[in-house]
Amino acid sequence: MYFFPFIGGGHQIPMIDIARVFSSQGAKATILTTTPANALRFRSSIRRDQSLNLPITIRVLNLPNDAVSPDSPMSATPSTDTSVLREPLKLFLTQNPPDCIVIDVFHRWAADVIDGLNIKRVVFNGNGFFSRCVSECIGRYAPHEQLGSDSEPFLVPQIPDRIELTRSQLPPFARNKPGLPDKVGKAEEKAFGVVVNSFYELEPKYVEYFKTVLGKKAWPVGPVSLCNRNNADKTERGQAASVDGQSLRNCLSWLDSKEPNSVVYISFGSLARLPPAQLVEIAHGLEASAHNFIWVVGKIFRRAQEGRVGDDENWVPQGFEERMMEMKRGILIRGWAPQILMLEHGAVGGFMSHCGWNSTLESVTAGVPMMTWPLSAEQFYNEKLITDVLGIGVQVGSKEWLSWNAEREELVGREKVEAVVSRVMGGGEEAEEMRKQARALAEKARRAVEEGGSSYEGVDALISELKSLRK
Ligand code: UDP
Repeated sequence: MYFFPFIGGGHQIPMIDIARVFSSQGAKATILTTTPANALRFRSSIRRDQSLNLPITIRVLNLPNDAVSPDSPMSATPSTDTSVLREPLKLFLTQNPPDCIVIDVFHRWAADVIDGLNIKRVVFNGNGFFSRCVSECIGRYAPHEQLGSDSEPFLVPQIPDRIELTRSQLPPFARNKPGLPDKVGKAEEKAFGVVVNSFYELEPKYVEYFKTVLGKKAWPVGPVSLCNRNNADKTERGQAASVDGQSLRNCLSWLDSKEPNSVVYISFGSLARLPPAQLVEIAHGLEASAHNFIWVVGKIFRRAQEGRVGDDENWVPQGFEERMMEMKRGILIRGWAPQILMLEHGAVGGFMSHCGWNSTLESVTAGVPMMTWPLSAEQFYNEKLITDVLGIGVQVGSKEWLSWNAEREELVGREKVEAVVSRVMGGGEEAEEMRKQARALAEKARRAVEEGGSSYEGVDALISELKSLRK
């Protein structure tokens, strides 16, 4: 089987994990990529698998010399011109035909090439079943079109639960245009099926709805991050990140010194940028909450309207970091942190998150309740799953980040941040209930990937189906 990942944290990490999962259940897994630079990234990710005797190979398309610069990540965004890649992909697949190729949903250009060659094509959609069902029903029934304003709530039609959204919470590509969002619809059209990084017990009504009502063939195969089962794997993942070994060890021993469930972990994923004024509110809210925290601060969104992104250390309220260090209350991590390792540490008791699907699943897998703050795309749908369907989270904020103008009134104030942190971390009845529910889901996640579990069976079913088609 070939796996053709899209470059970028939230896509590339789970696709490599998916290749790992299929390899561990007997498939011959090959990761396909477009440039030597990408191959290097993948090689370092899978180094450990080779020593564990999970032989994942990497193949690079043979592009004309002038096609892309050697270090170009290729299609870092879905709109990058990919016409130059069609012929090399066609040639490669003609000469080395696989039983099946799993492509990222963003590689819609590749779908045409592969379908033309009559090769089984499976789509990896980086979202869960709930979000896919909501997205599909909004696309089909366009309930948002007749509303008076962007803030007027509407019910998502036809789905199993009562889910309310506003137009301002829809991803920009779905907001005005009726019909399916192009990127998802196009790649899934004519596909053999969809592999989903989720597990049946997390969203059973939506797995069924997706398969029966929406008529899609799908295999839940997750949570695939669980394939990095032991701590050495996760530590290596952390050390490959920008947190160096020593900082990581300091961070972990700081966590070791804390009471169970006493630390809030905060991260808004690999892409989202918050304006400095919002970060200031978060800092004050955290300080006032009196709870411990590890806050992964990525790059800063300096001027929201101009869309400039850069490092800007000056946003930190005066003395905040020093006070927090002195009181052993909190740590700021600049850059990339080993998220799974952090979430699975017993001291971490809550995750303030942008509700990216991988982060959502990693929180569920670690049994950690969430403070939700979706910022773009399907994150608003994921939030509804977390808060309204699963009951394992409380909302902090919910606003499309690209439309912020960073005025004070647009921001989520420090009082709200403090209130939600206290609600989730405070140990009251509601918090205990959420924690209990999150732990129960974590246990189900663990069972799903074990031999005989629902996701294990999902992987097996796809492999068996491909084998039987080969005969
Ligand atoms: N991640 C991480 N360290 C960071 C930021 C992100 O390990 O400092 C990982 C995280 O564990 C997850 C992925 O990057 O697997 C982010 O994916 P998600 O779908 O949550 O959000 P996106 O970055 O795509 O918005």
